[in-house]
Amino acid sequence: DVPVRVYNFSAGPAQMPLPVLERAASELTDWAGSGMSVMEVSHRGKDFVACAADAEAALRRILAIPEGYRVLFLQGGASAQFAAIPMNLTASGETVAYLNTGQWSAKAIAEARAQEVEVVVAADEADSAYTTTPAPGSYEVPAEARYLHYTPNETIGGVEFPEIPQSHAPLVADFSSSILSRPLDVSRFGLIYAGAQKNMGPSGLAVVIVREDLLGRARPSTPSVLDYARMAKADSMLNTPPTFAVYLLGLITHWIEESGGLEAMGQRNQAKAALLYQAIDGSDFYANPVQERSRSWMNVPFTLADPSLDSEFLAGAQAAGLTNLKGHRSVGGMRASIYNAMPIEGVRALVDYMTEFERTKA
Ligand code: PLP
Repeated sequence: DVPVRVYNFSAGPAQMPLPVLERAASELTDWAGSGMSVMEVSHRGKDFVACAADAEAALRRILAIPEGYRVLFLQGGASAQFAAIPMNLTASGETVAYLNTGQWSAKAIAEARAQEVEVVVAADEADSAYTTTPAPGSYEVPAEARYLHYTPNETIGGVEFPEIPQSHAPLVADFSSSILSRPLDVSRFGLIYAGAQKNMGPSGLAVVIVREDLLGRARPSTPSVLDYARMAKADSMLNTPPTFAVYLLGLITHWIEESGGLEAMGQRNQAKAALLYQAIDGSDFYANPVQERSRSWMNVPFTLADPSLDSEFLAGAQAAGLTNLKGHRSVGGMRASIYNAMPIEGVRALVDYMTEFERTKA
């Protein structure tokens, strides 16, 4: 029998913090004394407007977002932003630069190309089979680039930048799978965006944090719900926002604050990742291909020396309450995603299971 609460290693939608789920469950049929769930109230009513403002304020506090940045709550996931970013930040024919470190970077590049911009791939790690990030100083951003886009954490390859790239052009970053995993100097960025469904809540919400001076250049053809300046002016309520997801983002940001903020998250996440990589590196039975400096704290892919044991490994893990460990279909093997809501006990349970599986099979 699968335990009621399993350790869920899914890459996303991902495990949510239990206290957040319990609080949401307790308020599900009567939120804020309304006699309704938060899903049923008007997004323009004062209670929900306050709820969204509170979620934004808490996000600003934990990320220490400086003055001069707008926080937008959008829909269409991170994928819609792949296209919205060139629509908002460039005129047709202008040059933009991208670092390609994996499948999500590659998707962002393809969507930018479809927006008729000149895409310069300043560094391309496809040749390394996406097992590293470009060394600082090893690539050049063209002088005329309107922005430099990169993917701080590649969810599929398990590759994470250990540093923020240097760039004269505004930095644009897809933080979908690493936002809120450790402290971040937002002032280094022109635009940060992320789908919520890993560290921020349920899918259906995308968060964009954008420097105000970059707003207001959207191409006239930009759909209004993807026009950052118009959305900023309307407090992200040009249309009906994903209210339940925004409410959950608020609960999660408060949970992070109560858990010690991003410093504490970072320490916990580093310890979790270290435990798992040590187990992989300390065995000939398991392997991770990523160069050590660029290993992700959030997504840890690993293979078994004998891939014919993969399905047995997964079935045994499932029976032990360790779920969603199957690797991405394009990579194979296993992938353990260990976002903020995964306690260190979950990683210990996985390492114990891996050790025992190796003992009986190697
Ligand atoms: N970027 C990264 C790094 C991701 O991990 C994902 C989804 O897993 C996406 C973009 C796409 O996000 P969405 O499904 O919200 O469009």
